[in-house]
Amino acid sequence: MNTQLLSADKDPMGAAIADYHRHGKAGKLRVFSSQFDEDEIPVSLLFRTYRTMSPLEQTALQMAEGKILDVGAGSGCHTLALQEMGKDACAIDISPLSVEVMKERGVRDARHINLFDPHFQETFDTVLMLMNGSGIIGKLENMPAFFDRMKQILRPGGRILMDSSDLRYLFEDEDGSFLIDLAGDYYGETDYQMQYKQVKGSPFDWLYVDFQTLSLYAAECGFAAEIVKEGEHYDYLACLQMK
Ligand code: SAH
Repeated sequence: MNTQLLSADKDPMGAAIADYHRHGKAGKLRVFSSQFDEDEIPVSLLFRTYRTMSPLEQTALQMAEGKILDVGAGSGCHTLALQEMGKDACAIDISPLSVEVMKERGVRDARHINLFDPHFQETFDTVLMLMNGSGIIGKLENMPAFFDRMKQILRPGGRILMDSSDLRYLFEDEDGSFLIDLAGDYYGETDYQMQYKQVKGSPFDWLYVDFQTLSLYAAECGFAAEIVKEGEHYDYLACLQMK
């Protein structure tokens, strides 16, 4: 697994988050992919509050308990909501500019850490991975390494709350037939590259995973998976617990 941190000159999302935090507005956060057309992430979306979060996210925050790790915390929106609920959360991100903003926004424990860095040895009762949290796993072949890492990080009885989407709708024809090359790569494996103003990041892998595939890997790695809640568009919140 990649255990690197971003540097500030290769941190477009962090630059967008910092601009929005300081000026109340930001330019275009552009997203490129070899699978999809160019797109944009509205930067305000990264600053959602409990009230403007999706029901899946609100449920995850309600369920989070004990010592909580918010993985890939971005602007800190989930950790800030957890703090308001009186919960104990640690926010980590590989983006140096995001971590700075989190501290300025009042996140009490914000750290510039990669989830997969083995030097990070604290343990948690809840690991939160939200906004297609499975993305950080990158590729299906990384699933065993991901679950191994979770075995180090989770306390006994601890659980992972992760959201993802089944991308099959992108490949479904109007008659319901499924246009996927079954011999090819898994259809939820994507790659992205972001740009904000002059700051261009490196390309990275980003995994969307359907619940059935996630539970198969989980079972193989000693975890039980259940769907906590389904969203409105092929998205879902999963709870994963060591068996
Ligand atoms: N959870 C936030 C941000 C989601 S974007 C929200 O819902 O708004 C995904 C975030 O994960 C980015 O900020 C990115 O820098 C971070 N990230 C990606 N890989 C990571 C890793 N291996 N360890 C920690 N953070 C990571």
